Amino acid sequence: MPIFYECQRCTACCRWPGDVRVSDEEIRRLADFVSLTEGEFIQRFTRLTRDRRGLSLVEKTNGECQFLESGNCSVQSVKPQQCRDFPNLWRFPGFEKTCHAKPHPVDAERYVALVTQATGRPEEYVRLHPSAR
Ligand code: SF4
Ligand code: SF4
Repeated sequence: MPIFYECQRCTACCRWPGDVRVSDEEIRRLADFVSLTEGEFIQRFTRLTRDRRGLSLVEKTNGECQFLESGNCSVQSVKPQQCRDFPNLWRFPGFEKTCHAKPHPVDAERYVALVTQATGRPEEYVRLHPSAR
């Protein structure tokens, strides 16, 4: 039975170091949201990903995401897809030791509906994604 993970907004995933990949479109949306040009946003808020194949949001010196403010994502409505997809469409072994998302075993149709809503992905993507079950 598929398991839907319901985020509890503990923000642990915003506090561990690592790449938060941003696409060109996401950069456009984020730049607009914080009233910067794309160039200014790239300069100020991104760095190369570890594999040097794209851009990631920069972290604060303590490893937190730059956009974590007072325990909340300050760019919630335009946050990158990578943030929206975790932990339903990607996760790593042992993630549940840090992530407090509540596991709900649900039937396949309910799973697709819930993950579609949580990630903003098209239903078809959720149905086809290999880590969706
Ligand atoms: S963009 Fe928002 S959701 Fe994504 S890591 Fe940063 S604070 Fe967290
Ligand atoms: S996905 Fe997990 S770690 Fe991230 S905010 Fe939700 S419950 Fe916390």
